[in-house]
Amino acid sequence: VTVALQQAVEVIRKAEYAIASTGAGMSVESGIPDFRGPCGIWQKYPPEEYATIDAYRADPDKVWKFWNELGNELGDCKPNPGHHAMAELERLGHLKAVITQNVDHFHQDAGNSMVIEYHGSTANLRCLGCQAIIPFDRENAAPTAPQCQACGGLMKPDVIMFGEMIPEEALGLSAELAERCDLVLVVGTSAHVFPAAQLPTFAKEHGATIIECNTEPTDFTKRITDIFLQGRSGEVLPELVSRLKA
Ligand SMILES: [Zn+2]
Repeated sequence: VTVALQQAVEVIRKAEYAIASTGAGMSVESGIPDFRGPCGIWQKYPPEEYATIDAYRADPDKVWKFWNELGNELGDCKPNPGHHAMAELERLGHLKAVITQNVDHFHQDAGNSMVIEYHGSTANLRCLGCQAIIPFDRENAAPTAPQCQACGGLMKPDVIMFGEMIPEEALGLSAELAERCDLVLVVGTSAHVFPAAQLPTFAKEHGATIIECNTEPTDFTKRITDIFLQGRSGEVLPELVSRLKA
């Protein structure tokens, strides 16, 4: 890992336009479980009952209650050293943007200013009627699904539920970034989450170098990764930053 780390430092120093693509693995160390894993929440709460847009429309109060309780349970989780290192990379001028599949808002909380939330964010509510997006005040959350003050429509957590489209703006912007960048830091995400997983491959096809940090090799590792940093992002990324600054 030490040799790989030093290689990564040199590549990051030379890069002119680096972006990061992050996923659940980054937030596991903050206590946010990987919902898709074998012990994930969707094993206990079938997504077709709790996490599809159709389920929400069919019984908004039931699904709202589930998301609300989940939010309260995870409400004390905070960005971990991996997120802080990612923010430091931006401050040092080594990172232009983060494209994340996570909905926990931790990248912004840590200080990254350009964050594309591929799957939306629990920090906001969105109206299914007029599409208005408002900040979600968890402290004063209603026990039942709230209505839009502007149009009376049904509000939902602004996270992409199964059966919903990835926001067009996020798709367009991240495709643009993937084409433009010369380096992608892939952190805490495997090649299995579509369509987010296509970004690093697309970037690679356009000439970008790929640095991957995951606890285990993934389908990216052999296929497109140039430098593999095996380990927890909360340990590897701070180490990377301190070498960059040295
Ligand atoms: Zn509305």
